[in-house]
Amino acid sequence: MEKVVIIGGGPAACTAALYTARADLSPVVLEGEFSQDILPGGQLMTTTEVENFPGYPEGISGAELMADLKKQAERFGARFEYKTVTRVNFADRPLRLFCGETEISSHAVIVATGATAKYLGLDAEKRFLNNGVSACATCDGALPRFRNNVVVVVGGGDTAAEEALFLANFAGRVHVIHRRDSFRASKIMSDRVISHPKITVEWNSVVTDILGDDEKGVSAVVLKDTQSGEERTLACVGYFAAIGHKPNTDLFAGVLDMDDAGYLVTRPDSSYTNCEGVFACGDVQDRIYRQAITAAGSGCMAALDCTRWLEAQQID
Ligand code: FAD
Ligand code: NDP
Repeated sequence: MEKVVIIGGGPAACTAALYTARADLSPVVLEGEFSQDILPGGQLMTTTEVENFPGYPEGISGAELMADLKKQAERFGARFEYKTVTRVNFADRPLRLFCGETEISSHAVIVATGATAKYLGLDAEKRFLNNGVSACATCDGALPRFRNNVVVVVGGGDTAAEEALFLANFAGRVHVIHRRDSFRASKIMSDRVISHPKITVEWNSVVTDILGDDEKGVSAVVLKDTQSGEERTLACVGYFAAIGHKPNTDLFAGVLDMDDAGYLVTRPDSSYTNCEGVFACGDVQDRIYRQAITAAGSGCMAALDCTRWLEAQQID
């Protein structure tokens, strides 16, 4: 029987593992088995340079940062396993998790399964990922390749508006590509985008392809007018998908409370879920900030909440 099992392998899980390991809870971290949907190490494994994680004045690669976070937790006794949780039973005590045929019982569980940025599904998005294609302007917008250059943002919601406004601080011109003739974004955000001198909105337009070469990356997008069907090419060096995120919560359907977008709901100012002994942290419960440092911070909160809860149950 485990005291605490952490599901996930990103910054939230690693930080929760560090804190629970230092509390002598000997956490098991199930970080998933590599597959199309599961990436041990989390989202940062897909990026090159992370420049905004405190403590790295020169920046650090996503893979190195994750290796460091994992090593730090392991130093205090956290045990990482490449296992994907396929089913949970939180109805009875102890809590039970299933990785295929393998069953694990635990007093407490910390959920840190993250979220996945949605892309349009174009082959070129995969080809140019980190070479002009991104789903995070806050992460990549300040990179030299985008400065004073032309970039496009796909989407018409608040995320697209925020990304476009952020990118306008660096880029020479930002084109927002939206498939309809009005934004889904809130009025205030829409107004800011529409009135911004460096932003142009391409209404009724969809991206059908991204052009470029493997060395220099993105050089243009192909746009199709949804009304006339006409296609044209728009030169740009950056393509930011901002059509929403999908939290990795299918596993918890009907078990843990979620909002209308599928994010886990935690009690205000805490990591407690609706299920006794189950805590949530990181992007899986954060529809707003979704940064490595906020994920790590909430991983710390979940570990502290979990440690205190176990103490209250007199499990140590
Ligand atoms: P994730 O990193 O998403 O990790 C979730 C983990 O859960 C994964 O390891 C996955 O394998 C595991 N998992 C999921 N389901 C299961 C399951 N059923 N069983 C077992 N394991 C499971 N943020 C920044 O602050 N700075 C940046 O520069 C930056 N760059 C980014 C670049 C890109 C391309 C992307 C996509 C994101 C970037 N972000 C950046 C955002 C940052 O990566 C996320 O906010 C952060 O990784 C969230 O951490 P997390 O631990 O909540 O989840
Ligand atoms: P939304 O679901 O609100 O918007 C997604 C946008 O992407 C929509 O405009 C949608 O178009 C478009 N889209 C979706 N799929 C496709 C596709 N396949 N091809 C082309 N376009 C597509 O997601 P967001 O991430 O923007 O926002 C999620 C939630 O988070 C919202 O509640 C939002 O208010 C909130 N949020 C709030 C912020 C703030 O308050 N500052 C910042 C960021 C998010 P269409 O409109 O035609 O459906």
